[in-house]
Amino acid sequence: MTVAQNPALRSLVCLRCGARHRVADLPRGCPACLAGGTPANVACVYEPAKGASGVQLPYTVPFTLGEGRTPLLRADNDLDVDLRLKWEGANPTGSHKDRFSALAVARALHAGYRAVAAASSGNAGVSLAAYCGRAGLGCEIAVTDDIPERVATLMRDLGAHVVSFPRAAARWRHLAAHVGSPTVLPVTNFQLPPVGSSAFGIEGYKTLAAEILTDLAGAWPDWVVVPTSRGDLAWGMYLGFREVCGERPVPRLCLVEPYPRVSAVLDGADPHGDFPGATAVMPSLGGNSVALQAVEAVRRSGGRAQVVDDDTVTAETHRLWRTGLPLEPSSAAALVAVADARVSGAIEPGSLVVAVATAHGLKGM
Ligand SMILES: [Zn+2]
Repeated sequence: MTVAQNPALRSLVCLRCGARHRVADLPRGCPACLAGGTPANVACVYEPAKGASGVQLPYTVPFTLGEGRTPLLRADNDLDVDLRLKWEGANPTGSHKDRFSALAVARALHAGYRAVAAASSGNAGVSLAAYCGRAGLGCEIAVTDDIPERVATLMRDLGAHVVSFPRAAARWRHLAAHVGSPTVLPVTNFQLPPVGSSAFGIEGYKTLAAEILTDLAGAWPDWVVVPTSRGDLAWGMYLGFREVCGERPVPRLCLVEPYPRVSAVLDGADPHGDFPGATAVMPSLGGNSVALQAVEAVRRSGGRAQVVDDDTVTAETHRLWRTGLPLEPSSAAALVAVADARVSGAIEPGSLVVAVATAHGLKGM
């Protein structure tokens, strides 16, 4: 299976210090920033494409499962906003992660790896399992012992090798052991402070941003609301908006989290600190650390962060299911954030708001 690298892909750039790096796998991010104790992810740098519309991607995906081109639905509401729902549950394995997997797996194939490894107890693991299977690569998913059995079964049924650990830290150590391997490529974060996931995979989220602007046909979103853990999706969408918008301002991003992390950093907390908190219903948004890419997605878009609570998200999830929208609670969180931000005045009446409904609820997460 032949994967081609985009000839316009020139280098990688550190999103903190701006250093350029040759195109390579940097799962710990920028080496200079890592050495300085301030880890930061990198992003792809392309030569401008002459006359091209849309966004550039680093690799072709000949093994596509049909990811992307998901619907933008109108969402009735009593909030006095024009609310649209980008329904990422319509992707092949039911989540936005398919856009990431397509590019992360393409990178692995192009660079000659035989397998991809990831730490995930949910959508990312299921998605990577499917895309690795499709591409003929091995797939190892490091999970925690409390993973829902039906999710672990899905990963195994899709051909992944599932290894389980009592705590997240242990699976990160397991993943870190693959760094430098010529055969196994780790594509999700495994270190503290976190950098985030594969820069090549994150490029896949640029298409999500571009689709929103295309589907709105000239209307401009005042806010794009994005459920967030370590900010892979928000940062990738920012990159997409930036590329499409050129010199114009990008839509403001509102990052949704189950307890203060990004919002604490925006209020002055040490970004490398520990952010205590837990969520029983939003496992996709868990974690007690902050990646710089999440903060940068907010700062560079002029955005904000919104904390939502388990009980309200649970109630909203039930309401959405009864209206034919089977979102997982981590996705319904985006709609709760819209409502909370309207009540506080952060989102003004009459705004055009796009909420990213990241994943289908049928996995039972
Ligand atoms: Zn750097």
